[in-house]
Amino acid sequence: MISVEEALEKILGEVSVLEAAPVPILESLGQVLAEDIVADINVPPLDNSAMDGYACRAADTAGASEKNPVTLRVIDTVMAGAISKQEVTAGTAIRIMTGAPVPRGADCVVQFENTDEIERRAAQAAKPPATVGVLEAARPGLNVRRAGEDLAKGAVALRRGTVIRPAEIGIMASLGHSGVRAVRRPVVAIISTGNELTPINDPLPEGKIHDSNAYAVAAQVKRCGAVPQMLGIARDDESEVTAKIKLAKDADLLLTTGGVSMGDYDVVKDILARDGDMVFWKVRVKPGKPLAFGKLKSVSDDGRTRIIPHLGLPGNAVSCMVSFELFARPAILKMMGKPHLARPSVMAVLEDDVTNDGGRRLYDRAIIERRNGRYYARLTGSQSSGILTSMSLANGLVLIPEDRKEVRKGETVRAIMLDWNEEVDVPPQD
Ligand code: AMP
Ligand code: MG
Repeated sequence: MISVEEALEKILGEVSVLEAAPVPILESLGQVLAEDIVADINVPPLDNSAMDGYACRAADTAGASEKNPVTLRVIDTVMAGAISKQEVTAGTAIRIMTGAPVPRGADCVVQFENTDEIERRAAQAAKPPATVGVLEAARPGLNVRRAGEDLAKGAVALRRGTVIRPAEIGIMASLGHSGVRAVRRPVVAIISTGNELTPINDPLPEGKIHDSNAYAVAAQVKRCGAVPQMLGIARDDESEVTAKIKLAKDADLLLTTGGVSMGDYDVVKDILARDGDMVFWKVRVKPGKPLAFGKLKSVSDDGRTRIIPHLGLPGNAVSCMVSFELFARPAILKMMGKPHLARPSVMAVLEDDVTNDGGRRLYDRAIIERRNGRYYARLTGSQSSGILTSMSLANGLVLIPEDRKEVRKGETVRAIMLDWNEEVDVPPQD
């Protein structure tokens, strides 16, 4: 049996970054940029006002104060989106709204709060007031946003390899780009195997269970940003599983669940050994020991042969999801060109005793909390590999080394964060 690290290395060695494809910017959320984005315009395009106020010449405001206001003649009003035809000359000002281009002749904007605009408007009821008193001296450049100060024309705005988040989508939009080239999302085929499985919409005959793995795994695939291709259920029959696998011919990764243990009807690993190239079977990990990985040869419609990596996940619901986390997720992220493949982890104080006599690495489901600056981890009840609620309650996995037969309450262990959300932080209690 190989270690988790060896297994992961073998899997990552068989997958590579997918090719780039054009995509509308909003759909690229979470994908990786496959090109540098060069600013083909200045953002902002023109010098413009950062405040609602008066555009004027800073020199005219020298010595201005509340006691000694400088009075300027108001010659125009300009709002965002418009350009004033007037030029600011000595002793004049133009009322200006945030975002409006700074008029010719002006070198600063005095915000309304530093003028007597409000009193004057109230007194004169004139729109705009004919004159304004400036109550504070301004320096050149005050409240002026420079053309290109966010993105200068010709500069690289976003680098290839950047993970696209909302801010990056905003930058592309500000440059007027509606589409982008990004590493395409992998298509991940999912097949559930097992005579006991019933589709979720069908009534449950005696002795059968609903196929939950396909849905949990498809959701995990979606969370990675990849596209699940749900191919349904195959009974524990070599020809049926083989036929289903053929449907995955255009996928980038095939995930099957079940059929990789030692049972009489565990046919997946046999098919992998027969039709493909089995890289490994069984990993020194709990849950998830019966994990098979191999390469399947597939012939697409155009007659080309491709190699599809095939990860045979165990059937037990928890083993299946944890194996996905440990092995499928990093493979998918690598295909997507993501720079980080591992989840964040923290060192946490264990709040339960854990025994580990099988010589395997344990990934126990836990609730990780931070209290008074320290992380604590407590197990989510039964750690049996079929108890899916243990996964539902958990926000992390605590890692118990294979060489530790027992880890005691109070010891510090590594915890892999599956969800790093607000609930991790517990407010101080008194
Ligand atoms: P297997 O690895 O095929 O021996 O499956 C082990 C156990 O996992 C089965 O006995 C089922 O209880 C459970 N199981 C297998 N496949 C699924 C599935 N698609 N959805 C839910 N549970 C499953
Ligand atoms: Mg089975």
